[in-house]
Amino acid sequence: MHDRRLQRAGTLAATGNAGSANDSPACGCDASFPLHLPTDDPEPMTRIYDEDLTGGFATRAIHAGQRPDPVSGAIMTPLYLTSTYVQESIGVNKGYEYARGKNPTRQALERNVAVLEGGTHGFAFGSGMGCLDSIMKLFRAGDHIVCAENVYGGTFRLFDRILKHMGLSFTYVDTSDPQRVDEAMTPTTRALLVETPTNPLMRLTDLRAMSEIAKRHQVLLIVDNTFATPIYQRPLELGADIVWHSTTKYINGHSDMIGGLAVVLEDDLADRLQFILNAAGAVPGPFDAWLALRGTKTLPLRMKQHDLNGRQVADFLAGRLGHERVIYPGLPSHPHHELAKRQMSAFGGMMTLELGTKDNARQFLERVKVFSLAESLGGVESLTNHPYTMTHGSVPAEVKDAMGLTEGMVRLSCGIEDAEDLVADLEQALVGI
Ligand code: PLP
Repeated sequence: MHDRRLQRAGTLAATGNAGSANDSPACGCDASFPLHLPTDDPEPMTRIYDEDLTGGFATRAIHAGQRPDPVSGAIMTPLYLTSTYVQESIGVNKGYEYARGKNPTRQALERNVAVLEGGTHGFAFGSGMGCLDSIMKLFRAGDHIVCAENVYGGTFRLFDRILKHMGLSFTYVDTSDPQRVDEAMTPTTRALLVETPTNPLMRLTDLRAMSEIAKRHQVLLIVDNTFATPIYQRPLELGADIVWHSTTKYINGHSDMIGGLAVVLEDDLADRLQFILNAAGAVPGPFDAWLALRGTKTLPLRMKQHDLNGRQVADFLAGRLGHERVIYPGLPSHPHHELAKRQMSAFGGMMTLELGTKDNARQFLERVKVFSLAESLGGVESLTNHPYTMTHGSVPAEVKDAMGLTEGMVRLSCGIEDAEDLVADLEQALVGI
């Protein structure tokens, strides 16, 4: 256990105090997170199989969390379409009671992604936002959260339109500047939330620096790793407490389900997330979990191709539009290129272009043929969108202005088609721009 916050929570859990719904810590220490949550969920949480930690990433992606079906030997994890499990007697069962709490198909996905992220416990949810909403239930009215100013629009919407009215308060800061993050901390701050690279401005945050600040202020560091995936960036290894994903994106990779997943290292935090998962119940159906699990088998392969295509497309666009109009962490002109090289093992397939005006953006989006104009990202097929009105449509104009999001921007999610076809498509869509 690396962290005093959790040691304290662990001590309380061991003495039984943390299991009480009473929200005043009994340790005489400062009121801290998230001791008000019980850890006595009847369904014990899912933990990775330790033997899955051996082997390289491609091997882990294909095998972690999965064992031949005990009934038939089926090599693929069966789809457990059941809401409940038959019990032998009162309190005597096979470890499963009710499928909101646990489902074997879901558990295979949870263990698989937890191993890829270098964590010990995974928690799958019905969407990325459902996942974040459940994570935020670790906190209570009066708690303060420091959040990167440049996050997915839905994250801002959840905080600003819902959780703010439930007693949580938020300060949005430029997390690429550690000093500003440090200055935003208050005695009631309980968490620091970052997304790196960000959607859609592709800004990076130094996770080691964030972890140092979070530990000094005894707050949780929560990282949205949707864009980079564990193949290119592992926040838990850099000191994060919770890493989460919209599995809708690269983890699934085929644009055929919606899901979210959180991974942690510490048992105490996992206990509380398991309690929330079961109590609040924002869980995915088994088929969506199965689809995401099938997706992770090819995640390392897919990410390699997304990255190759991303680099090729970015090089073409930088030559065509000028470096300053292509925001891609793999380009030396990107302000966080050095950090990207240090913190990520590759740059991926996401980038944003500045086309100058909304009319230019519209013309480009109407002309693309291999790229499709659509919400979402991270699938095998190339997508493009207009972040100002789409991903960030719910963010007030003044907030978008402050973060530097313009009406002339378009975002590209480079798929794994032939790079030459992507370049040719962009070339024809940019004629006259
Ligand atoms: N985080 C990021 C970076 C995203 O891009 C998205 C969705 O676009 C989400 C979270 C939300 O995930 P979901 O759409 O699965 O709820």
